[in-house]
Amino acid sequence: MLVFDRLKSQINLPEEEKLVVDSVRQVSRSNLAPRATAYDKSGKFPWNNVNDINELGLNAMFVPEEYGGTPTSFACYLECVKEITAACAATGIIWATNYHAMKPVIDFASEEQKRRWLPGVAEGALASLCITEPHAGSDATGMQTKFKPDGNEIVIDGGKTFITNGDVADYLLLFGKWSEIDDPKQSISVLVVETKETPIEVVGLEDKMGHRASSTATLAFDGVRVPYANLLHGPGDGLKLLLASLNKSRPSVAAHALGIARAAFEEAVAYINERQQSGRKIIEFQGIQFLLADLATELALCEAFLTHVATMIDSGVADFSTEASMIKLRAADLAMRMTTEAVQLHGGYGYVKEYKVERLMRDAKITQIWEGTNQVHRQLIGRAFFER
Ligand SMILES: Cc1cc2nc3c(=O)[nH]c(=O)nc-3n(C[C@H](O)[C@H](O)[C@H](O)COP(=O)(O)OP(=O)(O)OC[C@H]3O[C@@H](n4cnc5c(N)ncnc54)[C@H](O)[C@@H]3O)c2cc1C
Repeated sequence: MLVFDRLKSQINLPEEEKLVVDSVRQVSRSNLAPRATAYDKSGKFPWNNVNDINELGLNAMFVPEEYGGTPTSFACYLECVKEITAACAATGIIWATNYHAMKPVIDFASEEQKRRWLPGVAEGALASLCITEPHAGSDATGMQTKFKPDGNEIVIDGGKTFITNGDVADYLLLFGKWSEIDDPKQSISVLVVETKETPIEVVGLEDKMGHRASSTATLAFDGVRVPYANLLHGPGDGLKLLLASLNKSRPSVAAHALGIARAAFEEAVAYINERQQSGRKIIEFQGIQFLLADLATELALCEAFLTHVATMIDSGVADFSTEASMIKLRAADLAMRMTTEAVQLHGGYGYVKEYKVERLMRDAKITQIWEGTNQVHRQLIGRAFFER
């Protein structure tokens, strides 16, 4: 696939980061991919995939050196998300969620907090980002979880739903509202719950369409107490931290969606080069070539734009929020379209579980929903052109 190899060669990674991506690709293909069907079927949490990732020391990639990490570029991180996801989308989101939840700690926690939490993260701890509540989805500011200060502690009351890794995480990055601030937006605050010290009640796990091996938990907080020292920044600083962290997790979920899209594309191309009808390979039909041209072009453009966003972030550009929304939106729509067309190109075989594209199509759908639905991202992108 020359076009895609050339695109990859344009990603300007130093030699040692290329080696990291190579080893992630190798482990993903040799260990994770062969287990993906069984995990999809059982819905069991893929602990041996997590162990394989931790043997490569992958969490250390986003932790600063002084806290036990071996940091790489954001571009390198995104390549690893794509490789893991192409092999097993559930494992891809489990690992990426560690980044989504811990990046705000890396960027905004105090020195004392970083020393307490980040070495464990670098060694492979699991983390969760806890924003969504039953009545607060797209409008996260409607959250009702309360943080009440009580001497050296904070008392948490409320609940979170749809929390990736929620039942297995060592650290929860938890958003809630400070009880002593009245303004609903100004009161949003964020703290870390260390679940080994403070076990949290898991009310239930979702039985999902796709990503079946990644756990999605509903959590209850009923008078849960954590040290006041676990609050990030001050009371009421949560919304600022939330928006900053979402900007970086959106290119990450875009990379995850592109991992699914690329896997579906490769499956489809291999199949239509093999399968024959009317005495010709399926790829020889012009109608199929037109479809393939559209899919390949869209995939190439998304890959190139993701590289552009990663370059912006790695070179320290401060405002990339519109670009982050654009790539999240476009990559997720492509993942859905690509996997649907890949099933179509497999004919009836695409509809049965024996073929990978059936799972990929189910895995793709959520990418249009999480980390801001695609409707919400269209709104954010449109708003960026509003002249005030
Ligand atoms: C598998 C899975 C994993 C998840 N992981 C996490 C996680 O780790 N942490 C976490 O906090 N959350 C997580 N979520 C939650 C996810 O981010 C939310 O589901 C998502 O934000 C949408 O919220 P909602 O489901 O309440 O839908 P709603 O907000 O109720 O939306 C319903 C529909 O209305 C549309 N809509 C809403 N507002 C607008 C608007 N202003 N304009 C146009 N249309 C609009 C939406 O696009 C959607 O089509 C996860 C969800 C799932 C299913």
